[in-house]
Amino acid sequence: ERESLIAYRTVEPTTRDGRRIEIAANLGSLGEIEGAIEAGAMGVGLFRTEFLFMERRTLPGEDEQAETYRALADAFAPHPVVIRTLDIGGDKPVAGIDFEHEDNPFLGWRGVRMCLERPDVFKPQLRALLRASVVGNVKILLPMIADVAEVRAVRALLDECRAELDAEGRGHGPFELGVMIETPAAVFLAPAIAREVDFFSVGTNDLTQYVMAADRLNPRVAKLNRTEHPAVLEAIRMAARAAREANIWIGVCGEAAARADLIPFFVENGITELSMSPASIGRAKRCVTEL
Ligand code: PEP
Ligand code: MG
Repeated sequence: ERESLIAYRTVEPTTRDGRRIEIAANLGSLGEIEGAIEAGAMGVGLFRTEFLFMERRTLPGEDEQAETYRALADAFAPHPVVIRTLDIGGDKPVAGIDFEHEDNPFLGWRGVRMCLERPDVFKPQLRALLRASVVGNVKILLPMIADVAEVRAVRALLDECRAELDAEGRGHGPFELGVMIETPAAVFLAPAIAREVDFFSVGTNDLTQYVMAADRLNPRVAKLNRTEHPAVLEAIRMAARAAREANIWIGVCGEAAARADLIPFFVENGITELSMSPASIGRAKRCVTEL
């Protein structure tokens, strides 16, 4: 099978009825770039920036981050790279951010909630992303969005960062802003959120656990934690409908994006990008081509 999948490396897959689907890679570090290109990734659909902040003594500086994001964008140009802002919480400690003990870290102070209260952490990351978008096709993705106000607050910070960069005579490029659809609130608010952003990316890992109220790490509730559950599929359908009506693109970047049994459902609902671990890319391309 491996042999026959190699043939898909350079294929940009379209369905038989002519829908072009982008098959992108989920990455967590620069070390994974080569393998992703080798596997045929058409860009990056999810770059998890957590690794930059973990297992070190101090927060990463703006220059260091700008260098990392630029290298990522360079490696995949002209394909887009979707870079997610820091998605960290009390379950994954980071030096320089004071997380208190929480009974429910998955429902706690994490992701964009933490970032908006810590502009000293968040703004260097946003500025680094804006600086990297001078050279590359950078799309900024916000995790754990549950309210329109969060999106607006990030936009305001981005405006502030751009004004600062202008005043310092530094360049910043055009970028798209998108949100993860991974909370039920984001699904119910999808029509309103869609008016504020350029794209959606469905995080099926968290969306499944939050829709089903079933911890994604707890094997005892694994039989509820199924993305193919009708409740989860209905949530995805609602988000996709809102994207279509607002004329923005929608992708999927959770584990389910690679599932041959779900790809037809995603494509049928207007999802145009599927992002997955590099090892799954060849098979997903073949699956789309045969649809
Ligand atoms: C998700 O929640 O589906 C997702 C892609 O993000 P993470 O697995 O990093 O939470
Ligand atoms: Mg998630």
